[in-house]
Amino acid sequence: MTEKPDNTSTKPLIVCKDLGKTFYTGDIETHALRSASCTIDRGEFVSIMGPSGSGKSTFMHLLSFLEEPTKGSYHFDGRDISTFDGSTLAKLRNQEIGFIFQAFNLLSRLSVWDNVELPLLYDFYTKGLNRSKEHKQRIKDALESVGLSHRADYKAQYLSGGEKQRVAIARALVNNPKIIFADEPTGNLDSKAGLGVMQILQELSEKGHTIIMVTHEHSTAMHATRIIGLKDGILETDEPVENRLFAKDEQELK
Ligand code: ADP
Repeated sequence: MTEKPDNTSTKPLIVCKDLGKTFYTGDIETHALRSASCTIDRGEFVSIMGPSGSGKSTFMHLLSFLEEPTKGSYHFDGRDISTFDGSTLAKLRNQEIGFIFQAFNLLSRLSVWDNVELPLLYDFYTKGLNRSKEHKQRIKDALESVGLSHRADYKAQYLSGGEKQRVAIARALVNNPKIIFADEPTGNLDSKAGLGVMQILQELSEKGHTIIMVTHEHSTAMHATRIIGLKDGILETDEPVENRLFAKDEQELK
């Protein structure tokens, strides 16, 4: 099985204060995120909700260092990320963050195994190819944790949507990240496959993984333990989930 996350530190994983992002296109300013303040602890499963254009993606891109904020502060695992340069952030992103996207973003001509291996090849150009025993074990463990060990040699293009998303989850897990960001992970799936993906995310959460998921669907958001609501670029609501949904039970009812 995949390693359990190290949640022994008492420092919050994420602390952001008045975080914001304005895009400038010619003379036009777009305040994509006006202000977001929150603290997220290790092991939380947080949904970010809001209507289209409310700033969800921008917020997630800031939290995962894909964009630089234009205002506010952001500490990740106790470190002020504004002090890091681009290459340090890229390394942090590779080693401490796992991503799952709506469109899966697999390399379709590669095998399932090779797709899951990709994040482990980050140092390939500087350190050469190192396919150690430990490296192989990580891929095996990640595939096992999403129930796809039997598909390791399949080309990604021949998988169903639900299987593709499970490969993407395995790829996100392979570096044993501190946090997993999921951007509308069920958006391209039918309801059965979507529940399968939610079940895996809930199992990972049970094991202590920290998950932040963007969704515009309330029923999907209800699988998390906490919902952050954005409106017009402002973090407006932040509440624990009452009557949480459990994908495993929902599937049994189908
Ligand atoms: P959501 O994910 O909730 O749909 P976004 O964060 O994608 O919202 O976008 C918020 C607002 O910022 C939208 O008005 C969008 O058009 C704008 N925006 C997002 N990214 C950019 C960008 N790179 N350049 C200019 N405007 C952007």
